[in-house]
Amino acid sequence: MLAPYFPRGGAVLALVWLALTTVAHAETQVVLLGTGNPPADPDRSGPATAIVVNGTPYLVDFGAGVVRRAKSAVVERGVAALDPVKLRVVFLTHLHSDHTVGYPDLILTPWVLGRRVPLEVYGPRGIRHMTEHVLEAYSADFETRKKDRGLFSVGAFPEGHAVNAHEIEPGIIYKDANVTVTAFATPHAMESYGYRFETADRSIVISGDTNPAQATIDACRGCDVLIHEVLTHEWLAKRPDFQAYAARFHTTTTQLTELAKQAKPGLLILYHASLSLRPAVDAERSSPARLLQEMSGYPGHVVVGRDLDVY
Ligand SMILES: [Zn+2]
Ligand SMILES: [Zn+2]
Repeated sequence: MLAPYFPRGGAVLALVWLALTTVAHAETQVVLLGTGNPPADPDRSGPATAIVVNGTPYLVDFGAGVVRRAKSAVVERGVAALDPVKLRVVFLTHLHSDHTVGYPDLILTPWVLGRRVPLEVYGPRGIRHMTEHVLEAYSADFETRKKDRGLFSVGAFPEGHAVNAHEIEPGIIYKDANVTVTAFATPHAMESYGYRFETADRSIVISGDTNPAQATIDACRGCDVLIHEVLTHEWLAKRPDFQAYAARFHTTTTQLTELAKQAKPGLLILYHASLSLRPAVDAERSSPARLLQEMSGYPGHVVVGRDLDVY
């Protein structure tokens, strides 16, 4: 951005301009709550990403640990918007368990802590069915807590554990004063969506689980941030049992390099990767250095996303 020219009282005006633009740029934050996938990795929670706009959080996916990671973002990163009671609007990429096992946690824990309004969940066909069954599974909890109206005000706000599940189709699926969210279909093992978030100051695209897709390139096209899944060749070579599945439903470092060259994001964040931060957790998986090495043909800015990173 070019600084405007301030002819008189320039220093003061320039400082005001700098302060205003700095605040403006800080309006939208990407907070990586969980960058892992199915393995029970203590360093990487299940997939969950927060887009925070003007103090309002929007989540994508609810993998294992989602609510505790949100609280960690408050305590360790100072992102007050991610206090669990504020988690209210959520977008689901697909129904695979690594993206959804945090669902009861997301419904129940913020309510028990004081959320007073229903959770709004947007996702593929089947999210209503899953929601009905999760609510049914926890009916003993709801009924018991609702009886005690004095307990953390939980009983006084029974709608705080309600869920409005919206089954979506590609296109604009959500809009409020902060953000417009567009869903695009992605090729994966089941009905799946990627999402583009458009705010006053940033455009952010998140892939979900997917084979390389023209839809992802089209959704980004010079977006500020692209968050994309990826598998290393190093790991795939050790997992012949997974290769055919991965070739249809996931993305290799080579494929992502080519995709990102066309999508041209300002920043590419790698997540849901065949990665391990410590060999003691999983020696088969690749290190962050190896992952970046396999992405070295990509000329743009690329980082390995870690839980609780803020961008
Ligand atoms: Zn996954
Ligand atoms: Zn999946």
